Parts: sequence; C-alpha cells; structure tokens
Amino acid sequence: MNIKLEILEFPDKRLRETSIAVETFNNELKQLAEDMLITMYQSMGIGLAAPQVNHHIRLIVIDISEKRNEPMVFVNPEIKNSSGEIESSEGCLSVPDIKTEVNRFESIEIKANKLDGEEFYMKADGLLSVCIQHEIDHLDGKLFIDYVSEIKLERLRKKIIKEKKALNLEKQTKPDYLI
Ligand SMILES: [Zn+2]
Repeated sequence: MNIKLEILEFPDKRLRETSIAVETFNNELKQLAEDMLITMYQSMGIGLAAPQVNHHIRLIVIDISEKRNEPMVFVNPEIKNSSGEIESSEGCLSVPDIKTEVNRFESIEIKANKLDGEEFYMKADGLLSVCIQHEIDHLDGKLFIDYVSEIKLERLRKKIIKEKKALNLEKQTKPDYLI
C-alpha cells in the first residue's frame, strides 16, 4: 500500500540535516521511493528528496514529463561534471509560496545508483539538470532560498502577503514548478 507522506516545511530544522549514503538496497528503500513518488505527484511537484519527508538518506525522485508518467529515481546521486550556467525560476514543496531565480549549472553529469544498487551515469540539461541540483541540495541540508539575500527574501515575503491580500486568497502566485 502506498501512502502520502508528510512534507517538512521551512523553517523546520530537520530540513538542514545532511543525509547519509544508502548502503542497503532492500524492499524498504523501494517502498520509500514509491511513497515519495505518490507524495510528489499528489503535491503537484516535479521532484522530491527523502529528507523532505523526514528520511535522511540520499534518495531523490523526479518526474519532469508533461504526462507525469516518467518517474526517475536516483540513489546516492553525485555531480561528477558540470558546465554552463542557467537561471531557473524555482519553488519548493518545503518552502510554500516563495518563488525566486537561482543560478544553476546548465548541464551536469551525474553518477548514481538504481534502486537495486546498480551504478549508472547520466547527462542532464535544462530543467532536469536544475531539478537534480535542487534535490541534491536537499540531501546536503541546503534550500534554494539560501542563494537569495535576506533582504530579497524579506521583499519576496512581503510581496506574497500583498498579493494574497489583493487576490483575497483566491489565487496565489504559483512558481513554474515545485521541486
Ligand atoms: Zn525543494
């Protein structure tokens, strides 16, 4: 049975823990990955990292497909190479309402394990690359708002409050995607 997991939200300190590498590739790990995918789909996100659901292990799930039918799972993902720069407009399931620009690598090469432990290498560009970088940050206790100055963050918060009031809470500014 799959269950929707609770997503930790900023400023929860548990989001700041560094996650440990997965060494045992068992059914428990597969079940967690499945539950994380369900949770991600139900929350309309395109990526989710295990620490966001209070499991402090190096596991992330992603689906950037339009039809939401191309789930990807990365265990122990590591960036081996990177190139270029891209400005992405990011939101996060753990930081509701905030959306901001973040500079990321445009292309990355990663090494990771599959759920059965098999090692693989992959190249990623654009949105997939951004998403993987955002999720790996979660594994290191980092949030996308850490790239933004306190002053800018405060401005964003005020803007959100104003917009919410103006729209009478009916419509909210939604980021392009949540990861
Ligand atoms: Zn996130």
